[in-house]
Amino acid sequence: MNPDRRPLMAANWKMHKTVTEAVSLVESLQKETGPCADREVLIAPPFTALKAVSDVMKQKGYCLGAQNCHWEEKGAFTGEISTAMLKDLCCTYVIVGHSERRQLFGETDETVRLKGAAAIKAGLAPVVCVGEVLEARERGETFEVIARQIEGALKGLSEEQMAGVVIAYEPVWAIGTGRTASPEQAQEVHAFIRGRVSSLFGKTIEKNVRILYGGSVKPSNIDALMAEPDIDGALVGGASLEVGSFKSLVQFNF
Ligand code: PEP
Repeated sequence: MNPDRRPLMAANWKMHKTVTEAVSLVESLQKETGPCADREVLIAPPFTALKAVSDVMKQKGYCLGAQNCHWEEKGAFTGEISTAMLKDLCCTYVIVGHSERRQLFGETDETVRLKGAAAIKAGLAPVVCVGEVLEARERGETFEVIARQIEGALKGLSEEQMAGVVIAYEPVWAIGTGRTASPEQAQEVHAFIRGRVSSLFGKTIEKNVRILYGGSVKPSNIDALMAEPDIDGALVGGASLEVGSFKSLVQFNF
């Protein structure tokens, strides 16, 4: 296994879990999975639970992330959260450009780029989400959309800055719908993304960048997805909200 591509199982809790619920879930998960040496577990609770989750996160292999950030360091941006605030709470990752933020909150490739760059500057690893809507897939435009999102989000970064970036391919038609991309469909797009990354940043980054799959990942499909050569982990919504299902994902078979 390439150590730079240690599998990453990321839990995106979205707008779920009070502080008490979040602490209880992360404590149970850590107890159930035990230490994770050959894989990494990322928990991204709502902002309100970051501190409490950080305080109880002790298990080897576990790390903390936020679901969003603002790109400015500080200022009059009511309701926004800076990367320094996230660092202060022991976050090491931040998700940027999730399709729900693109579709519901007007996020664009340019704001995703700004957020990713701000995260890297602050020492956080951005998890940059890309993915096509169903109509684009049906029109045969998947690769065009993904290429535009990848270039839009990553342009201007140096090879060194790219070293910490994680990419998540999340076909919008598969998020929260129960309709997963087949391992072959996911692999095809992951290989395409790796190719785009290679032409933008060179062979070393191509070899080392982690590309997660997201979209109705569940215990019944994780092993087949993770068996694909360019799938390095999963970004999980629904199935990350229960101990039993997320534990099964964390403990997928190589
Ligand atoms: C997500 O929120 O990124 C996601 C993939 O959700 P779900 O696993 O519920 O499809």
